[in-house]
Amino acid sequence: MTESPEPPSPPVRFKNLPLAEAAEAIVATGEPAFRAKQVIKWVYQKRVDTFDGMKNVAKETQRKLAGLFSLEKLPVAAMIPSPQGDAVKFGFALRDSPYSVESVLLIDGDRRTACLSSQLGCALGCTFCETGSLGLIRNLTQEEIVGQLIGIDDYCAAKGDRLVTNVVFMGMGEALSNFATFRSTLAIIMDGEGFAIGGRRITVSTAGVIPSIERLMREELNIGLAISLNGWSNERRSAVMPINKKYPIETLTAVAQRYFRKTGRRVTFEYVVIPGETDTEEAAQSLKKMLGVLTCKINLIPLNPTGTAAVSPTPSAMTRFAARLEALGLAATVRISRGRDIGGACGQLTARMHARGKAASGRPPEGVSSP
Ligand code: SF4
Repeated sequence: MTESPEPPSPPVRFKNLPLAEAAEAIVATGEPAFRAKQVIKWVYQKRVDTFDGMKNVAKETQRKLAGLFSLEKLPVAAMIPSPQGDAVKFGFALRDSPYSVESVLLIDGDRRTACLSSQLGCALGCTFCETGSLGLIRNLTQEEIVGQLIGIDDYCAAKGDRLVTNVVFMGMGEALSNFATFRSTLAIIMDGEGFAIGGRRITVSTAGVIPSIERLMREELNIGLAISLNGWSNERRSAVMPINKKYPIETLTAVAQRYFRKTGRRVTFEYVVIPGETDTEEAAQSLKKMLGVLTCKINLIPLNPTGTAAVSPTPSAMTRFAARLEALGLAATVRISRGRDIGGACGQLTARMHARGKAASGRPPEGVSSP
């Protein structure tokens, strides 16, 4: 009796391989090391999705690699440019989920900032966040994170515009809770053969996952760090950010000080301004007490009142509160909320799509547990 042949293995998803493994995988096919560098450049800098687009690679090699690796891109499920022309919101489709992954391109002078997502949903449950309302569905893969950047660069290139210059991890999810993938993705973003974006132009925002901040310091990545504060006392912060019960404000300020000493980069504290609640004199005095001894910056963010009864602060109220903090000796800036008119806050697009799916079927989309 003859044995039936082994079924062919599916192609390896190349963008899921950490950079060094991707190079090794090419070399393991019998190609020289320089070929691996060429391929990596084609994938991340020229953003080709087939090997036959790699003009300086021999046809025979292209065919061989095409049988082994997949370069498929994340399909764009939604793209919403802001009427002001200063932001574009993207929804990228996933192979295994009815949810889409959100990213935003922010356009400001010569700067093109990609705001990337790192998880589908989020486990940390901040009460003001639509992503948090989904719960954690799953971590995004490396392919799905770099895929967002590739999709945004494709958009810029199609417009004849410059490519992404800056990256912030402030989209859906807590990047530092998906640390290994975040770390391997960063390596691709920063590498000269990858996106070649330096650490000074990358920022990760965190709700305050202290062990991962310590790890960032140990790995000497020297990227910017932004901590969501959003409360001027432990009691108030715990009410909107449950993680505060585990890592209270004093642990955050201590780690922020160490981060500055280690990297020379001052940490940004993000603080949502809610009129009459977080912009009072008591709040200002408390912020001075908490942050006055640190070398840090406070970034004031106007409340984006999606689905809440609260109202946004006026621009003049924002400026007034920033001036009050400055008068108390704190460095405060006001974030211009680009993309608000297109639902630029994290999780909004997905939460809305999810709500539509639920309304249509009366149950959560298939394969996804109800948040
Ligand atoms: S604000 Fe960030 S950490 Fe908090 S629930 Fe939303 S995505 Fe998660």
